[in-house]
Amino acid sequence: MVTVSESPRESGETAETADRADATATHDTDYPLRVEGLRKEFGGITAVDGATFEVEAGSLTGLIGPNGAGKSTTFNCITGIYEPTDGAVYFDGEDVTGLEPYQVAQRGLVRTFQIARELGEMTVLENVMLAPRDQRGEALWRSVTPGVRGGVVEQEAEVRDRAWEMLEFFEIDHLAEEFAGNLSGGQRKLLEMARVLMTDPEMVLLDEPLAGVNPSLENKLLDHIHDLRADGYTFLLVEHDMEVIMENCEHVIVMHQGSVLAEGDAEDIRSNESVIEAYLGEDV
Ligand code: ADP
Ligand code: MG
Repeated sequence: MVTVSESPRESGETAETADRADATATHDTDYPLRVEGLRKEFGGITAVDGATFEVEAGSLTGLIGPNGAGKSTTFNCITGIYEPTDGAVYFDGEDVTGLEPYQVAQRGLVRTFQIARELGEMTVLENVMLAPRDQRGEALWRSVTPGVRGGVVEQEAEVRDRAWEMLEFFEIDHLAEEFAGNLSGGQRKLLEMARVLMTDPEMVLLDEPLAGVNPSLENKLLDHIHDLRADGYTFLLVEHDMEVIMENCEHVIVMHQGSVLAEGDAEDIRSNESVIEAYLGEDV
């Protein structure tokens, strides 16, 4: 079994990390992610309207809500893709509101991305090897003294080793030389996960990671998520299949019209009148 948490995390550290240590002293380390009064407007549309919640360390927390509830926009505000109109996002006690995506990723908070069209023309192995650069900016690579060619080669070998480890963990190593564009929907989702884990995150946001995945791969993906969680990773999962959420997440947050309507365990959510109403008769 691969120990996925073993990786060159320290090499991504920068001077900013020292500031983080100070901020961390005062925050509740049991809840690394805290979203406070988050608001995002697009022109006249309020996509997120004062969402407030926390995610517990080492948990697999579900984020659900009807279509248009603001889940994806919340993810994008948390990870720096969108700048929130108002409110704040704290990670490990540090205010990360409005930081660039690579800066948020450097702190260990990432979301998965669909494989871009250009990446479809690269092999699966290349896709995974490139991931740290994509997500973390140059910081990870700056640790290598410029001009010291030996160091670069050494680091490249390290990245390659870790990439293979990821491919083996997700059982797509036999596809290493395949073009990413030729993968099935499910294999692509595994590659997306492998890419995001290459950055050695602390917490991963998954936005419908099972969409277009066949049932056997779906179970495999969920098993991987559980294994990684046992290894110390924290997950926030958006998934429209309520059964999947209820069976796999120990804590569920329900969004409705841009804010948090309810939260609790599966039983709490199933029996919550306002949740049932929000879904207007859909099976909860
Ligand atoms: P969910 O992921 O819960 O289905 P979204 O966050 O995608 O919901 O969307 C919330 C609301 O914000 C929807 O009404 C949607 O149409 C709107 N919205 C999302 N992104 C944009 C955007 N880039 N521009 C304008 N409106 C948007
Ligand atoms: Mg969405």
